[in-house]
Order: sequence, then structure tokens, then C-alpha cells
Amino acid sequence: MKNQTITKLTTTVFLILTAIVGAAQTARAQSAPTLRIVLPERFRVITNQYFDLRVEAEGISHSTARVLINVEGEGGIESLNFAGANEITTDNDNNPLGADKAWTYRRVSFSTPGIKTVSALVIDGRRVYGVATQISVQNFNLVGQKSIVLFIGDAMGTAYRDASRIVSQSTANRFREGWFDELQQMDKMPVTGMSMTYSLENIVPDSANTGSAWTTGNKTINGALNVFPDNNDFKYNSANQQATKQFALDNPRVETLWQFLKRRHGYKTGIVTTSDVADATPAAEGAHTITRSLLKDIARQYVDGSINSGNQFDVIMGGGLEHFNARTVANSGDTRNLVTELQAAGYTYVQNRNELNAITTPPAKILGLFRTGNMNVAYDKLLLNRPPDEPMPNFGGFTNQPYLDEMTAKAIDTLKQGNAPFILMVEGASIDKQSHPNYAAGQIWDNIELDKSVAVGRAFLNTNAQTLANTLVLCTADHDQSLSIIGAVDTQVPNAIQNVISTLLYPNANRGQGNVGIENRVGETQGFPDYQDANGDRYPENTNRIRIKVGYRTGDHTGSSVPVTAEGTGALLFYGYFDQTDIFFKMAKTLSMNTQPLDEALNYKRSVDVPYFTPAEQFRLKNSDGTIWMKNAPLHTPRLITEQDHADHDDEHKAN
Ligand SMILES: [Zn+2]
Repeated sequence: MKNQTITKLTTTVFLILTAIVGAAQTARAQSAPTLRIVLPERFRVITNQYFDLRVEAEGISHSTARVLINVEGEGGIESLNFAGANEITTDNDNNPLGADKAWTYRRVSFSTPGIKTVSALVIDGRRVYGVATQISVQNFNLVGQKSIVLFIGDAMGTAYRDASRIVSQSTANRFREGWFDELQQMDKMPVTGMSMTYSLENIVPDSANTGSAWTTGNKTINGALNVFPDNNDFKYNSANQQATKQFALDNPRVETLWQFLKRRHGYKTGIVTTSDVADATPAAEGAHTITRSLLKDIARQYVDGSINSGNQFDVIMGGGLEHFNARTVANSGDTRNLVTELQAAGYTYVQNRNELNAITTPPAKILGLFRTGNMNVAYDKLLLNRPPDEPMPNFGGFTNQPYLDEMTAKAIDTLKQGNAPFILMVEGASIDKQSHPNYAAGQIWDNIELDKSVAVGRAFLNTNAQTLANTLVLCTADHDQSLSIIGAVDTQVPNAIQNVISTLLYPNANRGQGNVGIENRVGETQGFPDYQDANGDRYPENTNRIRIKVGYRTGDHTGSSVPVTAEGTGALLFYGYFDQTDIFFKMAKTLSMNTQPLDEALNYKRSVDVPYFTPAEQFRLKNSDGTIWMKNAPLHTPRLITEQDHADHDDEHKAN
């Protein structure tokens, strides 16, 4: 690693140059070049976190132009430290007129906290132009050896959590009078916050930029993984991917928390998902590209590194086998077999559920690739019959795939060895993937699968006082989708509608005329579902009479905020309404502070708070004293909802 220092400008020289800049810009306002420091306005890092600093100058007069970088911290002028290359390129932009030039300093970092003002002076012949931005550097100093398990339900907004709870916790009449006998695992986590998910350019984000938010602490554009857009991105052409992908892989990068903790503090790192392991949410922990579609390059980066060299993870589990063992020059630019390379590097390779569950002594590292593409959903792995509006399962020949909770258990067993601290991301991916085509069964049962994985994380957290004091478990979503909870449906009513699928014909022309919504809601009933779980696997069979009724407004993501639940050390930091990028800084803060006062405050809050009301067994029948004890009759008998109910309701809500 080489450390370089540039531009030892004194403040005086800088001020003089700044004055020249002002004069030059005033004199030639109409022909001034475009200067850009390629960082978002609110760029934030922690101390010693790597990022790339790129300065772009477009419309300059001379390709011989030079740049001077000046860094001023709260204590005065600082040097710019960077551990990587200083790349200088020309002809980057999309304008054939005029010269352009870019300077990219790789692996810049600040060792001290505070606001840093970064200025770039471009000396273009006899003229000098300047541009400046500010960077917030927050202190990171490891305190203790704490681990983090982050569960992501892809698209798991509030309605998704609700649907999963209603289905999984209503079996055997456990959902009565609006109360559950037991809540979901993710509901039981003691702290809840809300995360805003906006991207750098959109109200509605995707899984790439949202993952980048919690892994790097920064927003980027939709589709981008841990990089910022630069001025040669237009040269990337997906139709000519291999010849042009360099322009999608050269963007200014930011180091992820997973990479930072491995490099700086020897943390073990892991990604576990039900999707292709090179898909956006797992890739966000360890890859860098402006387009998430470069799946083969993302897999290669897991092996070679992108911002740091070498293997990025100790545990990799999910689908996407083809990106590792079916590489060709045409599809990836190389013919490497990444499975055999990782095996040679010490990974134990498992290919199916039996092999995974046969592991009794945790290996040093695990590579588990259980399918090409995305793994099958829980509903299909359970061999349940899909509802008529959902497709038949297609296992692609991979009929022995593990469940997410099984993968999670082996991942934690592997990462926790030797009491080394670790950071692990576990994703329930098809909550999103099944929501896009409005497949409610595929989606809801995958949410249950994620909740069973959260159970594994919570059990590890609560192993003993030491793990409780040194582990943070989080559960959130990257973004929302448009699911709504409509109510309950009696499936014995002919043509009963269980799942209202979105149409392109919205807004509905009949709104407010006694025909609110998309369908006439045939079979809608009062009361609560009566799901059955005959085999006791806690996945209902979905053959019962009264079921949940849900609807989708669209087949895409939405811009709603998503819940974050937290348990363990530092959990109280996740209380409140905050930006998704704050999750990165809250995780970093948990690792770099004495969390004991926070944890004690949370324990006190729990001791005095109002708990979810869970009565003791109420209906124990006994007649030893001669009294005939009956089960308490319900206060209300559910009935089918009629058209008249809807008409009454619409009158009640009629707008003036
Ligand atoms: Zn999606």
C-alpha cells in the first residue's frame, strides 16, 4: 500500500488562487467549463473508510490541464491521503466539442473526523477554475468485539409484515378478536424505527441503491452498487457488454461496512440470500458497479475484490451457480471456474440441502450454491399447490434446496467460530420477486421463511449474556411494494376473490360510485382466517376455508418508508424516523461506542412498558365441583360482507 500526499498548498496560496478563480469565471462566464467533484452533496463516511475522489472537467481549452486538490479540515489544511492509483483520463464525456479530463484518486480516506472542505482547482492554460464540496467524516473507533446480523426482507413494507403475521400466526384459532396468541419473531424485537428509502434521483428506489445506502452510508442512483455516476457511463452498452463494461466498472467507489470491517478489524463477513448471490441485495455488501446487471463481474469481485483485493466474504450462500461455474469469454470475459478457485482458497462447497445440513463441524468458510438463478420460493419447496393465478413450480433440476433459516444457522455457526466478530446479511429475496407479478402465496410464505430465519438470529443473540451484550440483530426492508391487506375471504363462496391483482387500467373509473376498487370482492367476509398447519412446520397448508384477502395496486416498488426492527446491543439507536443511509452510521456507531447505557435504558423501558396482551390459557374446561364450564361464546359471529355493506360504506365516505 502506498500513501501519497499531494498539493501541499498553504492557505495563502489557496486564497490567492481562489481569487483568480473568481476573476477568471467573471471574465469568461459564457465559456466557463463544467467542473464536478463526483460526490453527492451530502457525502458522509466514517474515519478510514475508503472512497474514490473523482474530479471531472468538461469544456476546457487544453488537454494538458492540471488539477490541484486542497483539503481543509476543522484544524486547517490537511493532505489528501489515498492508498490507490491516481488515474487520469481524457475524452470521457459525451461532448465531441472541447477537451475534457478527469482525475480519479482511488482509496482516499480521512483518519480524523469532522467536516472536510475539498476544493479542486483546474489550471487550464492561463486560466484557473475551482469547485468545492464538503464531506462529513464521522469517528469510528472499534470498542469491543460486537457482531451484526442484518435481515432484509426485499420489499417487506408494513403490509408485507402484516400479511405474513396474519397467515402464520392464525393457525389453530390463534388469531381471535383482533389479537394474536403470539406475534412474529420480527414483531418481538423491542425497538422499531422507520427508514426513508429515496434514491439519489428517485422517490422510488430499487434494491441496488438501497443496499448501497446501508452498506456505505450514501445514496446513489437506481441500479448502482456502491459507486457514483460519472461522465463516461454513456459508453457502457448492454448490447455490447464485454467490450464496454469497463465504463460501468470504473466509477468512483465507496467501501462497504462489510469490506471495511474485514480490512481494518479482521471481521468475518457473510451474505446469505434466496436470490442469485450476485443479485443486487447481496452484491451491495461487496461489489462495485454502476449497473447491477453485470452479474458475472459481481461474482468475480467476490473472489478478486473491487475496492480491496481478495475474497470479500467468509460465507456466500444462495443461487447464481452459473456465475461461478459456467463462465465463458462471451458472457464474462473469462473462462475461470470460481467454485474451484474458492475451494482452493479454503471454502467448503455445498450444493444442496442435504450437504448443507450434514455439516456438523463448521468449516472455516462456506460457499453454498444451490441453484442456477434465484432459488425457489418456500411455497414451492414445501410442495404446496399454488393458487390458480400463480405458476407451477419450476425447480430447474434443483429439487433439494435448503430453507433460508437452515442457511442462516450454518452461516452463523461458521462466522462465530473462535469468538471472532462478524457481520452477516440475510435476505428473503422473493418477497419482492413474487410481488412484482402479484403472486401472493409465493410472496407471503417467503416472508414466513424470512421470519423463521429471524428466529435463528434471535436465538443466537439470546444464547447467553455475553452474546446478548455483543450482538445486534436488525430486520428491515430495502423498499416497499404496493401490497394492501383487504380483509378475509370465504373461499367456499363460488369465484371468491383472494388475491386482487393489479391492472394497468388505474385509476379506476368507477371510484366513488359504489364500486370502489378493482373487483366486486366476491367472498369477502368478516372475522379472521383459520389457517391450518397439520404437519406442524409452522407453514400453513393454505387449504383452509377463510383466508387472507390481499390486493396489489401495481407490480412494482413504491416510495413508502419501511419499518426497521432491532434487538441486542445498540438497538435503541434504531428508534425513530430516519434515512436509510443512517442505518450504516447507526451500525458503525454501535460498533464504536460503549453501548451499555443505551442497552440499560432499553431494558428499563421494556420493564415499565405496556406489553402485547397475552392472557393465560382461558378455556380450561373442568367440572370437578359439579359446575359445567363452557367455552366463552364469541362476542360476534362473522358473516359474509354484502353489497349493501359496501354501499353503506361508500355513502359514509362520499366526498362533498
Ligand atoms: Zn423489485
